[in-house]
Amino acid sequence: MNEYLERVLADTQRKNSNEPEFLQAVKEVLCTIEPVLDVHKEYEQNAVLERMIEPERIITFRVPWIDDSGKIRVNRGYRVQYSSLLGPYKGGLRLHPSVNQSIIKFLGFEQIFKNALTGLPIGGGKGGSDFDPKGKTDNEIMKFCQSFMTELYRHIGQDTDVPAGDIGVGAREIGYLFGQYKRIKGAYEGGVLTGKDTVYGGSLARKEATGYGLIYFMREMLNAHNESFKGKTVTISGAGNVAIYACEKAVEYGAKVVAMSDSNGCIYDENGIDLDLIKQIKEVERGRINKYLEVHSNARYIENNGEFAPIWTIKTDIALPCATQNEITLHDAQILVKNGVIAIGEGANMPCNIDAINYFLENKVLIAPAKAANAGGVAVSAIEMSQNSMRFYHSFEEVDSKLDKIMTNIFNTTNQASKNFGCAGNYVAGANIAAFQKLANAMIAQGVV
Ligand code: NDP
Repeated sequence: MNEYLERVLADTQRKNSNEPEFLQAVKEVLCTIEPVLDVHKEYEQNAVLERMIEPERIITFRVPWIDDSGKIRVNRGYRVQYSSLLGPYKGGLRLHPSVNQSIIKFLGFEQIFKNALTGLPIGGGKGGSDFDPKGKTDNEIMKFCQSFMTELYRHIGQDTDVPAGDIGVGAREIGYLFGQYKRIKGAYEGGVLTGKDTVYGGSLARKEATGYGLIYFMREMLNAHNESFKGKTVTISGAGNVAIYACEKAVEYGAKVVAMSDSNGCIYDENGIDLDLIKQIKEVERGRINKYLEVHSNARYIENNGEFAPIWTIKTDIALPCATQNEITLHDAQILVKNGVIAIGEGANMPCNIDAINYFLENKVLIAPAKAANAGGVAVSAIEMSQNSMRFYHSFEEVDSKLDKIMTNIFNTTNQASKNFGCAGNYVAGANIAAFQKLANAMIAQGVV
């Protein structure tokens, strides 16, 4: 790292010393953009990095709600409005007990790069709460969402900030949030949230977008190295929105997905995962993944029993971490490499820690980095916003084909940036560089604001 990068990193560490995930995300970017800063001195002169790292605004608020037994509960809500350089703040809401300011800031910081890569007019933001949706009734989820929106509504709008889903937030939660927003505002502002149900303004193919988009990006990446999904063994962590649709598209491309997981453990089915059953357990019943064995007794269930996720010990050609941050450590990476993995596709945000990424790169394992590879969800969210503005619907095929083109473009941009700056094949660096340049140029053009 050059002197400018060292100084910015030290300053960021000093100001945010209690935010490890945020610092990790910043460090990952700073470690890759030196070649651009060497050529473009104007970025340092305009304090581009200092401004990019500091969010425009952070909002935290109290979320009180009453559970089914009549007890008052209190959670903490967040919205980080990170950057409006390229459009309205845009990024999901996460409901998970692990949510804190560090998690939301790392997600928001990554979101501005991801959104820049889509080529669409969207800035970056992220939000959520430490509310745990697991085990809550529909009524409790609704009460929480209504209370959350009763504070959030004053900070968002279809031209200012447009939240969507993330971990723990799907069409059900978006519906409750939208209903409350509409009630408070007394107006139908369809584009204020994305990931809506298709019966009232949601886009076809939004549900599938992140998972399908990941596989479209990987198809291009594998193709550039004379590889494909055909005949490959794939393991996928998570069994949520991203994991399910990544599985669906990978199978369509001829792969055999042999393992999926949730936060309790993973299932291994050497005959190939029965995805309809996973959808029934996760999307309909909201149950635990070990229920899979009630139908497929040949499958194996391996419970998480410590620090390391058992799914990464299963031999695979391609691994798709689609659950959460830092789920692949150096230890997991070493096992995956020993077992012959050829490619990693980051469906989740920051699923590989920095040591794991470096180990994969040293061992010539292809990495499809999250900022580029999981941008399909937000890209289709932007397409949902444009449909809402036009008061019009595109067909599934139209949206899916736009998604495919966007993901192909993202791969090409990432690939080109990696070649232009002397790190061909390192798509982690390529994605960071391409997005950084776009943001930096917009920042200089808009003056010191
Ligand atoms: P879901 O809530 O639909 O699913 C999350 C899955 O990951 C569940 O199977 C969950 O298991 C598992 N999981 C969550 N937290 C943990 C944890 N701490 N340890 C182990 N497993 C965990 O979320 P999504 O599929 O929407 O999101 C998954 C990842 O993809 C996240 O990193 C998110 O930021 C990212 N992402 C999502 C996008 C989207 O459009 N939804 C867009 C871009 C990125 P369990 O049910 O047991 O909790």
